[in-house]
Amino acid sequence: MHKIFTYFEQLTQIPHCSHDAEQLKAFLTDFAARHGYAVQTDTAGNILASKGTSKLALQAHYDMVCVGRAPEIETFEKEGWLYAKESTLGADNGIAVAMMMALMEEGRSCEFLFTADEEVGLVGANALAFDLQSDYMLNLDSEDEAEVYIGCAGGVDLFAEKKYGKARHEGSFYEVVVSGLPGGHSGVEIHKNIPNAIKLFGAYAKAHALQIATIEAGERINSIPTHVRAIVAATKPLPEEEHISVTPLSERYDLIDGSAEVIDLIDKVPHGVLRMHQTLGIPDRSINLALLSIEEGVCRFSLSARAMDNDGLAVVEEQVRQLFSQYGYIVRSEGKYPAWKPEVNDFSEMVCIKVAEVFGHCDYKAIHAGLECAVISSLYPKMKIASIGPNIRSPHSVHEHVEIASVERVYEVVQKIVGALCD
Ligand SMILES: [Zn+2]
Repeated sequence: MHKIFTYFEQLTQIPHCSHDAEQLKAFLTDFAARHGYAVQTDTAGNILASKGTSKLALQAHYDMVCVGRAPEIETFEKEGWLYAKESTLGADNGIAVAMMMALMEEGRSCEFLFTADEEVGLVGANALAFDLQSDYMLNLDSEDEAEVYIGCAGGVDLFAEKKYGKARHEGSFYEVVVSGLPGGHSGVEIHKNIPNAIKLFGAYAKAHALQIATIEAGERINSIPTHVRAIVAATKPLPEEEHISVTPLSERYDLIDGSAEVIDLIDKVPHGVLRMHQTLGIPDRSINLALLSIEEGVCRFSLSARAMDNDGLAVVEEQVRQLFSQYGYIVRSEGKYPAWKPEVNDFSEMVCIKVAEVFGHCDYKAIHAGLECAVISSLYPKMKIASIGPNIRSPHSVHEHVEIASVERVYEVVQKIVGALCD
């Protein structure tokens, strides 16, 4: 087996779950120093190994998502793919770390950047302050061979809030539950027209002129909501519909005096793809209406907005702010992260040529979700970045597996790029 897998096997025996990767940090620091590299670390846990002057930085994150028995990892091979027994494998991003170890063993004068805690919010990347000298960075955290990633979405979470007074009791009370929807990732699945439980509830509430007491809707800010539970009042008996169940209640509740306004807002808040990217065939701007709650008269909407460039993100944020402001809501934003605007440049072209030499073809890709590359590119705006990686399937789950031959082919690409740019 290729030496990459010898290194990778070694990594699987050193615990490195996110937030708990000290042992691997020590191991990598020591490995780099033993091979003649100057090593810097920072308080976030990032590691930079360098030697001589460098045009190219190679970058991978060294933490992993631990699910199942991990950090106890026992690998096995099946039909050309490497798996772990009842745990995540950590090929995301351990295979890349192994590749970088192999290049350090060869003494290549590149910069080797290992970032910490990528899987728990790009923590290491956000704290990066090393003085990188390279003009180019090759990130090795992609999961499809023969594809060169050149961009990703930026995003921001938006929260709108308003306190309502009480309204007069009218009609009978019901519990209305929306359920049985599939849900999905608010970025990479936003274009799939997956039904939004809050929108479904809104249409039902409008059709039956409901008055609202309480609502609990959605699961997480970054997923398409699957579930709504609301207590409402109606003057006529409420029918059940597909995905909507209704239970009459004997108790009475305080209703808000803004039911019609809330129902109107649910209808008007944009959800889904606002516009597609012209050349990449992925969403360019999107909004996920993720959460809605009404509790003790306070109504809160939570949305996540994404865009493939920072100007577009500002436009989407402003659109949401204006809509809610018209209704007297207070809007605040949180967790903003920059976009990595898709761009073909001399570096991505060179990477694509090397990919095509090995795979016979090459595709430029971008993703409608956040990547470390975006954070690094905003911190080092002059650096040109591209991302590649071997075929990895079902990462972050006990079914994670990596294709062995794909690792060997991608390493061949990496060696060609390193050969052209590093001594
Ligand atoms: Zn990763």
